[in-house]
Amino acid sequence: MPVSTYKILIDGKWISSESGETYSRVNPANYSEVIGKFQQGNEKDVNKAVDAAEDAFEKWREVPPPKRGEILLKVAQLLKENKEELSRVMTREMGKVLAETRGDVQEAIDICEYMAGEGRRLFGRTTTSELPNKFSMTVRLPLGPVACITPWNFPIAIPAWKLSAALISGNTVVFKPSSDTPLCAIKFVEILEKAGLPKGVVNLVTGPGETVGTRLVKHKKIRAVSFTGHKDTGTQILKEAGIGKRVGLELGSKNPIIVMDDADLRLALDGVLWGAFGTCGQRCTAASRVIVHKKVEQKFERMLVERTKKLRLGNGLNPKTDVGPLVNKKAQEKVTKYIEIGEHEGAKLCCGGKTPKLKGWFVEPTVFTNASSDMKIFQDEIFGPVVSLTEAGNLDEAIDLANAVEYGLSSSIYTNNIQNIMKAVKYLEFGLTYVNASTIGSEVHLPFGGAKASGNGFKEAGWTGINLFTEEKTVYIDYSGKLQRAQIDIE
Ligand code: NDP
Repeated sequence: MPVSTYKILIDGKWISSESGETYSRVNPANYSEVIGKFQQGNEKDVNKAVDAAEDAFEKWREVPPPKRGEILLKVAQLLKENKEELSRVMTREMGKVLAETRGDVQEAIDICEYMAGEGRRLFGRTTTSELPNKFSMTVRLPLGPVACITPWNFPIAIPAWKLSAALISGNTVVFKPSSDTPLCAIKFVEILEKAGLPKGVVNLVTGPGETVGTRLVKHKKIRAVSFTGHKDTGTQILKEAGIGKRVGLELGSKNPIIVMDDADLRLALDGVLWGAFGTCGQRCTAASRVIVHKKVEQKFERMLVERTKKLRLGNGLNPKTDVGPLVNKKAQEKVTKYIEIGEHEGAKLCCGGKTPKLKGWFVEPTVFTNASSDMKIFQDEIFGPVVSLTEAGNLDEAIDLANAVEYGLSSSIYTNNIQNIMKAVKYLEFGLTYVNASTIGSEVHLPFGGAKASGNGFKEAGWTGINLFTEEKTVYIDYSGKLQRAQIDIE
């Protein structure tokens, strides 16, 4: 099949990069299959895209938010109509199994519908004044051109989370997707165009993070950066953005599932398998640590190893596949390195750990036991199909172990005891806690984001999703006709 060359979108026109260069992306389940050639964008492309976004802002900010919402509803409709095609493109481009890529597109549909409704809310507050004949309120205003920088593991859902919130709030966007998933980004932006988004309101520049991403982050006209990705990249972005620009960070994590001695072990087992090996362990909310009560540890370990060995690796388009490939060679090397580290540190490798001789970047689903909190496999985000078990004597110890990492995105507990549940809700230092469910499975109408090193406080989705993208301006209207001094003229 001939390989297509794709373009970038600036001011409503699909054009080639100023660099004159392209790069290829291949299917991670079969690296002899080329997905397409994509523009190797550079700083000049970013400058043009930001100028286009700045121009488009003048008109877009005047469009009433419910009208902006109508476009998002149309986006949701088009995503529904193209769901199967988009899901297949996504599985070919980044590897996760078809059931999960369908879920990814569905999440984009859900957030577009949710944010369309936000067009009729965008709530500020009214309140009282300490002075007579004075009115106080807040209103939400857009910021201007914003940057959305996204990873590859949710290549339509995460852009949809960010762009829908930015757009409903009245901002214009320069979108820089992961270099591993440019085609999903292009397909999504094509749908935004078809839905009637005016030219320049969303601009798409593909290309390397170090050039395209850095230029965007440093650009003086960019008013906010919404970033999802690695902790180290987020740390760098925070430094480079400088003052006068908001930065919202959704970073990695090392998420625990606690299994108590009173838990329904079969339910917990399903949750651990889904949390650890869904998306081949490449989710920021993946369950990579299981902290098990000592009374049930051996039984649970046996159950987990037995089921893990039965998981089928393969191409995500095959309905029999349970676990797809890792996203690229670098990821495969990183995961295999961590498996070696785990063995070297003294954890016990119970199953998996090998890289099958296939033409894709696969690693077998892997289970370690006897992981202690000082080990790297307990502390570091591996971002692959590797889960480790650690024993705890009681719930307090389990919570201490769960919290003994720098991250704090998602956590889970399996128990049927209400005291255990409420203690976990109170003391687990994570942005999300699931009870009798795995660490993954967020719904778009609730806030999403991490504590500690997993983020910086701006939560995406739900009613909090617009906070990064709106200035909540405080307004005082004094209609007394005289000078009234707050805190002074209060008698
Ligand atoms: P990266 O941080 O490597 O990349 C994320 C995005 O940032 C990509 O578009 C990348 O571009 C770009 N980028 C890279 N370097 C820079 C830079 N210096 N300045 C600006 N942009 C840059 O992460 P991954 O794509 O590898 O994603 C995996 C990580 O994302 C994991 O750590 C995971 O936990 C986290 N994640 C967090 C989520 C959350 O909500 N908390 C959700 C999903 C993932 P390019 O591809 O061209 O390098």
